[in-house]
Amino acid sequence: MIAFLERFVPDIDSETLPNETDIGLCKALDLQGSISCPAPACTDFGGLNGSRPLALALARPAGPDDVAKVIRAATRSSGLTVAARGNGHSINGQAMAARGVVLEMRAMDSRMELRQGYVVVAGGVLWEDVLMECLEHGLAPRSWTDYLGLTVGGTLSNAGISGQAFRYGPQTSNVSEMQVVTGKGDIVVCSERENSDLFFAVLGGLGQFGVITRATIILQPAPDMVRWIRVVYGDFEEFASDAEFLVTRNECDSFDYVEGFAFVNSDDPVNGWDSVSLDSVNRIDPDRIPANAGPVLYCLEVALHYRNQDSFKTVDKIVNDMLRPLRFLPGLKLAVDVSYVDFLLRVKRVEHAAKVNGIWDAPHPWLNLLVSKRDIIDFDRTVFKRILRNGIGGPMLVYPLLRSKWDLRTSVVLPEGEIFYLIALLRFSRLSPEGPPLEEVLAQNHEIIQCCITNGFDFKLYLPHYRSEEQWKRHFGKQWPRFIERKALYDPMAILAPGQRIFSRTHKSL
Ligand SMILES: Cc1cc2nc3c(=O)[nH]c(=O)nc-3n(C[C@H](O)[C@H](O)[C@H](O)COP(=O)(O)OP(=O)(O)OC[C@H]3O[C@@H](n4cnc5c(N)ncnc54)[C@H](O)[C@@H]3O)c2cc1C
Repeated sequence: MIAFLERFVPDIDSETLPNETDIGLCKALDLQGSISCPAPACTDFGGLNGSRPLALALARPAGPDDVAKVIRAATRSSGLTVAARGNGHSINGQAMAARGVVLEMRAMDSRMELRQGYVVVAGGVLWEDVLMECLEHGLAPRSWTDYLGLTVGGTLSNAGISGQAFRYGPQTSNVSEMQVVTGKGDIVVCSERENSDLFFAVLGGLGQFGVITRATIILQPAPDMVRWIRVVYGDFEEFASDAEFLVTRNECDSFDYVEGFAFVNSDDPVNGWDSVSLDSVNRIDPDRIPANAGPVLYCLEVALHYRNQDSFKTVDKIVNDMLRPLRFLPGLKLAVDVSYVDFLLRVKRVEHAAKVNGIWDAPHPWLNLLVSKRDIIDFDRTVFKRILRNGIGGPMLVYPLLRSKWDLRTSVVLPEGEIFYLIALLRFSRLSPEGPPLEEVLAQNHEIIQCCITNGFDFKLYLPHYRSEEQWKRHFGKQWPRFIERKALYDPMAILAPGQRIFSRTHKSL
């Protein structure tokens, strides 16, 4: 049953040209929104696919009916594929469809509806817009990403991870219902109770089983303010055990946000001590770093929510009680009080600065991994302290998450064991001619993955990118049969999300 799905999409370069019938089919589509054929050239945040055309046609759907029309047309075509494009913040062309139609999901009606404790949003809405709408009502989603210029459908197709995930799980654990258009063109409402297999398939499903046209997100009362704190460690084991201590405590005894990152023990303005600063005033004093500290240091980043009416004295006491058992280096603690909105939009400020100096629009060869607690000390020794000892020209996030907060019925795959770490290598450095050639940086990413494989680390790529069947099989492990069974059920012609390069389009008609 599944054999026909197991062939893989070839590289975009070697794809054949679309035929005239497919072009005619795209042009003839009568959408409430619009369709441009040929599609304007476009790239993604990764910028690794150059300026190749993103697709044969670019459709701007007005709603789920338009999405269904495009997908149904693809099922009648000789080889059209369809990719939903959220905000195109993928790294490796995952939202592209070289021979197909890209659905510009942000074009969909962006009105949101608040219902008792939930917000109902279109799949193409940005998380920052969800935040603003919910705050009008004193509410907010519980689980975020660090950067909110991402769409609801885009992050739900992966996981959606940030410093709240230790408590509430990723964003995929915080959605109660979705409307999805499957690869057969069926518009289906799904939830844990209704069409539940499709619901869980789509969450973390890399866009393979349906286009998310609507999602219902769980909300909580929004705090007004956040005490945002960074403390520095010289020793990785102490850093990791303190971070794990915080993420496994009861809600009332811990912070509302826990993350961390590794940085270089030097005055390098990008990779070094200054990367710990919370603002132009709150910087660490390098004289406090012990002379015997290693080449890499670690910063635990935590935050506590509070209300305007809470006194500073009360907040100080709670924070001090929570920090007391931690073993960070004396004197290496920074703290600021910011509004909840400013805290959640902290990466937007980085975006503004990076756009001004041109590095936002440059290529971003990023690498994200989930590494089991079992191997995290060896990972630090071999990757942070050796391969990355000089930094990467951007943040090197490392923080623990709890498997029990993830729903294993979704399509996301995780390392074994209750505690695993998110590693995010978010490179923002200038590449050749001012910096290293792109190939060198990609080779370093490859070296890191090879190091994990050679050492037998229990790890998974987050936002995975593979090119061969063996690699995808290894990625999904024992979940591979379920993944391909779901593909056969919901997208039997492999029309959806071809840019993930997992399955190749079949020409069998329904
Ligand atoms: C600056 C930056 C910061 C980031 N920070 C975080 C972070 O803190 N935490 C985190 O978890 N991730 C983070 N990411 C990664 C991000 O979550 C993914 O790249 C995500 O896929 C991007 O969302 P997007 O809306 O741009 O999706 P796209 O890149 O447009 O799409 C990604 C994939 O999802 C599919 N897709 C998109 N929309 C839909 C839909 N409506 N229905 C079905 N499939 C769909 C696409 O076809 C594609 O396969 C970050 C990325 C960037 C660039």
